[in-house]
Amino acid sequence: MAADPVSVLQKLFGFPDFRGVQRHVVDRVLAGQSTLAVMPTGAGKSLTYQLPATMLDGTCIVVSPLIALMHDQLRAAEAVGIRAATLTSVDENKAETRGRFLDGDLDLLYIAPERASTADFRDLLERGRVALFAIDEAHCVSEWGHDFRPDYRLLRPLLDRFPDVPRLALTATADEHTRADILDQLGIPTEGMIVAGFDRPNIRYSISPRDNTTRQIADVIRDTPGPGIVYAQTRAGTEKLAATLREATGRPVRAYHAGLDPEIRRRNQAAFVASEDMVIVATVAFGMGIDKPDVRFVAHAGLPKSIEAYYQETGRAGRDGDPAVAHLFWGAEDFARARQRIAEVEPQRQPGERQRLNALGALAETAGCRRRILLAHFGESPPATCGNCDNCLSPPNAIDATETARKYLSAVFRTGQSYGATYVEEVLTGKSSERSLMNGHEALSVWNIVDGEEAAMLKPVGRALLLRDALRTNPHGGLEFGPAARGLIKGEDTLKLVIPPKRARRRRGDQAA
Ligand code: ADP
Ligand code: ZN
Repeated sequence: MAADPVSVLQKLFGFPDFRGVQRHVVDRVLAGQSTLAVMPTGAGKSLTYQLPATMLDGTCIVVSPLIALMHDQLRAAEAVGIRAATLTSVDENKAETRGRFLDGDLDLLYIAPERASTADFRDLLERGRVALFAIDEAHCVSEWGHDFRPDYRLLRPLLDRFPDVPRLALTATADEHTRADILDQLGIPTEGMIVAGFDRPNIRYSISPRDNTTRQIADVIRDTPGPGIVYAQTRAGTEKLAATLREATGRPVRAYHAGLDPEIRRRNQAAFVASEDMVIVATVAFGMGIDKPDVRFVAHAGLPKSIEAYYQETGRAGRDGDPAVAHLFWGAEDFARARQRIAEVEPQRQPGERQRLNALGALAETAGCRRRILLAHFGESPPATCGNCDNCLSPPNAIDATETARKYLSAVFRTGQSYGATYVEEVLTGKSSERSLMNGHEALSVWNIVDGEEAAMLKPVGRALLLRDALRTNPHGGLEFGPAARGLIKGEDTLKLVIPPKRARRRRGDQAA
């Protein structure tokens, strides 16, 4: 008699019930239907193949991109009594593992994608019994995805050799285009896609332009008791920022990055996990595999790599379900740098990268609900407002800055698309200098055409133009036109500027009270 998945869940894993879409995924797999499960990190993807693997006749072949990860998963599976093995270049017991597979003595067999294409391995599978193919980090199969691995393309021929064996693709991070690509590449029907709840309602999202990173982050730390993570962009940056923040806030602040001595790294990590008020300043590598449920804030000192990365990194806050905050501070130069980097990747990957960056730009630039943009990106249909992000809590004013943007672009054009923002602003506001005299720029039609309140808008307008790719920075820091300049100049596009409500001034002496 077939066992009931819930009783297996309780007996084997010790969990009272399935979480979220797990049951739905497991039911499909047990029914032999190929499935793509898009579930956020921590939602419990592994269980959706581990559990069926113990119930189905035969072995579940798990494709996973990282050997280190595989060995972690192997240990975890063995710990609950699942019969599992890895077959990788570093394993010394390969012959034994093959024997166990042929004897039907394995629930799970973990392999790297490159093994899938070998005739040897195909022969092995044909001589044994395969119950399921689980493809972890399935976005790696898509060139559109952020982590394309050519080896993943080798899987399809193997999968097709076993037309009756269901496929379960798993990923935490896939935009619409990447998902369609995964279904297509791995031969999974459209109705086989299951998307889990990505919402983290207890996280309050807040995104603002950077003016003084250290002060802004010090404010976050002072406003938020409890452990926190600050993501800096470079290794050197983490140590400097950690020292400054320690000084400014009086909180225990430590640095963490891959370049630190392993012993110090281990000690800082252990101290953070145990602490109730420590702040760790880290590069993005920090947080993977760290299980600290009571992180109260995550602050980004610069732009994350993508919306997926932002979601994943901010998702390390508030795992216990209690209120937590996520602050992102961005600068126009982050976008300029990201666009430069995109120009250097292989041409076929550029459209995907560009779309990912634009999505991030839209999230940063919006006057609307941040959560809505975030969840819509993951394929959900959230309500228009969430009540728990900066824009929902204090709606910003949006003003039409199209006219100022056009003046800005004209000034960039008239001065020959070679000067930086400061000089362009000086020309527009008629700030005479040796340089402007020598260049003869004081005779230009754009000389001194902006003053008063409009002058105060020049900086944010310049930032917005860079963000939407109407302006680009050349390698010498000079501004030049990007593809989005044309629509603004021709009057086809408008530029709305989001004016964040003034943040309440910190009152001095609060702590003394
Ligand atoms: P993912 O791969 O989606 O990031 P994991 O498979 O590593 O997530 O699971 C995350 C955590 O959730 C693990 O500690 C796992 O044991 C736990 N977990 C999974 N399913 C359940 C469940 N139904 N009930 C309680 N905890 C669960
Ligand atoms: Zn909101």
